[in-house]
Amino acid sequence: MSLRATRIVATLGPASNTPEMLEAMIRAGVDVVRLNFSHGSAQDHIDRAQRVREASARVGREVAIMADLQGPKIRVGKFAAGKVQLVPGQPFVLDAERSEPGDEHGVGLDYKELPRDVRPGDVLLLNDGLIVLDVVSVEGSRVHTVVKVGGELSNNKGINKQGGGLTAPALTDKDREDIVTAMSFDADYIAVSFPKSAEDMQLARRLCDAAARGGHRTGLIAKIERAEAIPALESIILASDGIMVARGDLAVEVGNAAVPALQKRMIRLARSHDRLAITATQMMESMITNPVPTRAEVSDVANAVLDGTDAVMLSAETAAGRYPLETVQEMAKICAAAEQADQIEHGALDADFNNQQLSRIDQSIAMGALFTAHALGARAIVAFTESGATALWMSRHRTHIPIYALTSRLATQRRMALFRNVTALLMNASADRDTAFAQAEELLKTRGIIASGEVYAITCGEPMGSPGGTNMLKVCRAA
Ligand code: PGA
Ligand code: MN
Repeated sequence: MSLRATRIVATLGPASNTPEMLEAMIRAGVDVVRLNFSHGSAQDHIDRAQRVREASARVGREVAIMADLQGPKIRVGKFAAGKVQLVPGQPFVLDAERSEPGDEHGVGLDYKELPRDVRPGDVLLLNDGLIVLDVVSVEGSRVHTVVKVGGELSNNKGINKQGGGLTAPALTDKDREDIVTAMSFDADYIAVSFPKSAEDMQLARRLCDAAARGGHRTGLIAKIERAEAIPALESIILASDGIMVARGDLAVEVGNAAVPALQKRMIRLARSHDRLAITATQMMESMITNPVPTRAEVSDVANAVLDGTDAVMLSAETAAGRYPLETVQEMAKICAAAEQADQIEHGALDADFNNQQLSRIDQSIAMGALFTAHALGARAIVAFTESGATALWMSRHRTHIPIYALTSRLATQRRMALFRNVTALLMNASADRDTAFAQAEELLKTRGIIASGEVYAITCGEPMGSPGGTNMLKVCRAA
């Protein structure tokens, strides 16, 4: 059993669609599979989800499926030649009403509101910031610009406005349809692209709940990638189950240099509110074409682990790269090494642990389990959890004692695949507490997690099997 605590999210695409590759990637350590709804049809995603479930059954480990909605990605239209070369100083017109294909003088837009959202003096960044256009004037549907930084611009590349301020709503009509698709296969997480406010996430929650089958509750991830989301960060976090540090678009909107500090703040804030954090984009970028990462990428992944992220994410590396499997293997090694180093540096619990203000019984028990397990040098912390909440609270603190979450609910088990330092196991526990504890110990011993004589802490809620009632902590020595 892997000792790695940080989770790995891998995006599927042409490089990773086959059952064999999926299975190999899950064996190598993928915990969450991301379906990118910016590409492919509804049926493609339904088929992929099915293949993921089958591959994870073959491996014998449940992974979570995250449906990542496209959102209002603002893009240029297509070019007659597929692409053009933009030269600094050259005028270039973005025209919302242009229907013929683009050329070196200008191109159409699929986002018709752009002329209303920009003013002379604004800076537009295309293709993830590789191309920079200065807005000179706006006439009707036409945004007149001058190329500041040139280069190749090809079909449907994204547009960002420096500093933010594009008014497109976070959930498009396509997103609404995609939510229905994702809920048809009980997506464990849905990631919302470009939310600006807590209201965007609340709307997503209502749409998900309305589309849910049999009361399935999906986890909602807010992708923080708009300048406007930064001042609203805390309220967005509170309206979500987790956030993604979506460094690709975020860097374009707020400037590259601001992103590392924002990453640390976002992860800290998410954890302090009992929410999840995923660090995303270009983590192992060079492995799209190379069999080994750069030293800088190794450091980037390790630093995200030290920042306390729940998961590190792979995008094109696993979707379209030449070395999807090697990338996952490398990433898993980097995470494990960073965690080990962190354990040597900071063996104890978070410094803030003793100052926790606790009013809830279930949270107090979760904290008590952590404290006790640390004091005794326990081998494991075990939590009976139906909703996953107890395991989530435990995992919000830096502890190097592994947490094992036992649940009877498959959906809860899958959702916990994203929680740092939590291994989720499915177990139909007896309604009788002592029998359930014996079952748990048996399971942990069979899996090689604990051995005879080792100490572990275990929590449960009585009556057993109902969510939200953790009220009991026991410290055991394995028989
Ligand atoms: P994307 O989101 O890959 O869907 O654009 C992540 C990011 O912007 O970093
Ligand atoms: Mn993005």
